[in-house]
Amino acid sequence: MQLTGNLLIGQQSVAGSNGTIHAVNASTGAAIEPAFGGATLADLDSACALAWAAFDSYRETSPEVRAKFLETIAQNILDIGDDLVERCMVESGLPRGRLEGERGRTVGQLRMFADVVRNGDYIGARIDPAQPERKPLPRVDLRLRHIGVGPVAVFGASNFPLAFSVAGGDTASALAAGCPVIVKAHSAHPGTSELVGRAVQKAVKDCGLPEGTFSLLFDSGRDIGQGLVKDHRIKAAGFTGSRGGGTALMKLAAGRPEPIPVYAEMSSINPVLLFPGALGNRTEGIAKAFVQSLVLGAGQFCTNPGLVLAVDSPDLDRFIEAASSALKETAAQTMLTPGIHKAYEAAVEKAGSHADVKTAARGAEARDDHQAQSALFATTAEAFRNNQQLQEEIFGASALVVRCPDLASMLELIESMEGQLTAALHIDDSDHAEARRFLPALERRAGRILVNGFGTGIEVGHAMVHGGPFPSTADGRSTSVGSLAIERFLRPVSYQDLPDALLPDALKAGNPLGLNRRINGKVQLAE
Ligand code: NAP
Repeated sequence: MQLTGNLLIGQQSVAGSNGTIHAVNASTGAAIEPAFGGATLADLDSACALAWAAFDSYRETSPEVRAKFLETIAQNILDIGDDLVERCMVESGLPRGRLEGERGRTVGQLRMFADVVRNGDYIGARIDPAQPERKPLPRVDLRLRHIGVGPVAVFGASNFPLAFSVAGGDTASALAAGCPVIVKAHSAHPGTSELVGRAVQKAVKDCGLPEGTFSLLFDSGRDIGQGLVKDHRIKAAGFTGSRGGGTALMKLAAGRPEPIPVYAEMSSINPVLLFPGALGNRTEGIAKAFVQSLVLGAGQFCTNPGLVLAVDSPDLDRFIEAASSALKETAAQTMLTPGIHKAYEAAVEKAGSHADVKTAARGAEARDDHQAQSALFATTAEAFRNNQQLQEEIFGASALVVRCPDLASMLELIESMEGQLTAALHIDDSDHAEARRFLPALERRAGRILVNGFGTGIEVGHAMVHGGPFPSTADGRSTSVGSLAIERFLRPVSYQDLPDALLPDALKAGNPLGLNRRINGKVQLAE
């Protein structure tokens, strides 16, 4: 499929005239064609005007129409065929298998949200019928449903060019909620973005939806991304990326005359806690599995296990030894962008030269300037506690093992840590009593607690939380993966004493949408 390098504004394909963006071959650093034209402020205004004009009719589409739309996007993405995977491989440096899997996840997410829309529980319909006879005062008729918040800005993620980008989890959940979406493409994968963007644009047309339901903009600087978050017609934003980028957008959103939420997923080191029983019984097995998880995808996962905590002991020495031998065997891998590679190299260099840090092992050396060599470091609990630098995320295949004097000091470290996406406990039966003592602190610190595994595999389902207290995300009350992600883009509206004819279908007496509804506080299942 031929790339145009154009912006997608509603159904128009528009040549951007505000500078250009070139994709870069992640493996060689060479610029690749075509040039993508950056959006002007006038383009941004057109996309926002169309999105706003689309909002009222799009959010009132029937569940079936909206579900079909999400399924059509999924099919249109599959219909691009191998062109999508090939372009994405060049732009991201990620291997075919990973990207084919990621495409499957992207399509699966869209279909899951189609089911969520059809099911209708997300509408949260509640009815407290009028009680005209109630004494001393009659009760009014009150009905509640959730509606989309309004047009949503989505910032594609560099590390998930399909599953968290143009038609990824943020877009799928916002569209499912009834919100038009404007995507600011990530500059690391503009070609992938255009291909997927055209699949979404075509689905809008195929399904007869208002054209402003979706737009895709390229930004040659920062003005368009920032302008999007500041535009009065945008009512929420989804973001995955750096802490600096996420907090900059949060500040802009909070400073608007009408502040809006930015659901930013930013930085997490995902502590792995090795309890004495498990560490003693399964040292080598845990070490090998840990290294596999650490180097997966060159460590470019927000749930990458960047920190290991354990009591200093001969068992921990054996763990570090086993992990070091496994790590030395790991090949260097191409990183997503030269910028991310440079940031990784600088952070690893800084960690390795820290007076309180020992380099336990490095992976195989890089064969070119774009590959990253994995790294394992070790330090003490005291050094970790006293050095903020050691607590910061190194985006890539690097981890730090912290030797704790005892379990009490390990718990203290957890208490002092920033918010995390995941916390992984490695335990045997003999560790249960100690592990239970850690759970309240872990619940306060992390969005997902897991046992005898690592956070890198994220199941897309109904009970998944991919979120956590700041700075892992901007708002720990939400998730960006799984069906609950739709709640970020919904708002409750209550209707008092409206005649049936004026009520939305979700709340009408005859229940024409066949929803499960909460009547007088009790769930009444649809017949
Ligand atoms: P990034 O620099 O934060 O960029 C993410 C997106 O936000 C891009 O579209 C970027 O625009 C835009 N952006 C960044 N700062 C902005 C600002 N101040 N105003 C407006 N827009 C802004 O993240 P990245 O490029 O993906 O990766 C850089 C670093 O982020 C990595 O080295 C890593 O540390 C971290 N990261 C973390 C995760 C995670 O899940 N925890 C995931 C990916 C990256 P451009 O496209 O124009 O740059």
